[in-house]
Amino acid sequence: MTTVTLIPGDGIGPEVSGATRQVVDALDAGIEWEVHDAGILAIEDHGEPLPAHVLESIRTNRVALKGPVTTPVGTGFRSINVALRQELDLYASIRPCKLFPGVPSRFEEIDIVVVRENTEDLYEGIEFEHDSKEAEKLRGYLKYMRNYPLAADTGISLKPISVTATKAIVEFAFQYAKRNRRRKVTLGHKANIMKFSDGLWLRTAETVEDDYRDVGFEAMQIDEMAMWLVWHPQDLDVVVLPNLYGDIISDLCAGLIGGLGVAPGMNLGREYAVFEPTHGSAPDIAGKGLANPIAMILSAGLMLRHLGRPAEADRLEKAVGKVLADGKLRPADLRPSGDPATTTQVAEAICTAL
Ligand code: ATP
Repeated sequence: MTTVTLIPGDGIGPEVSGATRQVVDALDAGIEWEVHDAGILAIEDHGEPLPAHVLESIRTNRVALKGPVTTPVGTGFRSINVALRQELDLYASIRPCKLFPGVPSRFEEIDIVVVRENTEDLYEGIEFEHDSKEAEKLRGYLKYMRNYPLAADTGISLKPISVTATKAIVEFAFQYAKRNRRRKVTLGHKANIMKFSDGLWLRTAETVEDDYRDVGFEAMQIDEMAMWLVWHPQDLDVVVLPNLYGDIISDLCAGLIGGLGVAPGMNLGREYAVFEPTHGSAPDIAGKGLANPIAMILSAGLMLRHLGRPAEADRLEKAVGKVLADGKLRPADLRPSGDPATTTQVAEAICTAL
């Protein structure tokens, strides 16, 4: 038996987590769950959104499956997802975007893996409000140091990019490509504009590339990448991006494969791994039985692969593929021609197809 920490989450979280648990249990893959709440539900019971025992559970089990968790406003927490990434050093976010036959999409044969740096860039939250004393000081310092003429009402967000974090994520992308027999790694950047952040990202990646000559490599400006992704998305394979571009491009790629309801994800570090769907808690459809559980079910498939259960992961993905290709049962977000299938109906159909 392998114990996995399960955080069902809130909003549609409990519905999609329940469905996922049903499918994984039906696989008989030797997984047992240690269930913990985070976010609003944890505040109700434990007075804080990310209690120490939740982190302890993940540190002990090393693997967690997580539903979407809304960050409660006014708790001093920027985001539970960001806190988890920082506490567990989950430096790589991976979003495999594969289009299953039968899913309505404008595109065909999409199979792109987005690898996103998860720890720095504009997400580090180093910000100065336009009317703060600190911003005024910083503007003064920049004027004195480099004669940068910032207007007196300018707010400032910093974009730190380090050699160390760049090396780690680019190496990760190459190793992922090798392990999964992918064709090439494409690195997105805007080095011509941001020479000391994106420029450093690009130059560092080029030094890493030398060690992986058996995997193809290309660097592409992020705006050009956006164009290719909607023009010839089949030309892209593994894409590696700094944090903010990664956030945007992974949602774009989710759009290529049928939307958030079918887009799985994982956050990996050197020691721990957290598997979770790309989507958030979708409060607009919570509790209505309308949520598509497939993104979270596919995330559990990625988890099974990570845990060394490739046969079970294959069975899960094939069963999802069967249900989607069959097209008789479609959840609301996949634009069914008849009545939408409920979360439970989708889970049951997948269990039957296993
Ligand atoms: P966050 O800021 O946490 O990402 P959000 O509300 O901006 O949250 P999501 O919750 O990811 O974004 O979802 C945006 C919309 O997409 C939802 O309001 C919902 O209509 C739809 N959606 C997201 N996930 C699903 C799902 N699993 N099944 C069906 N529809 C979904």
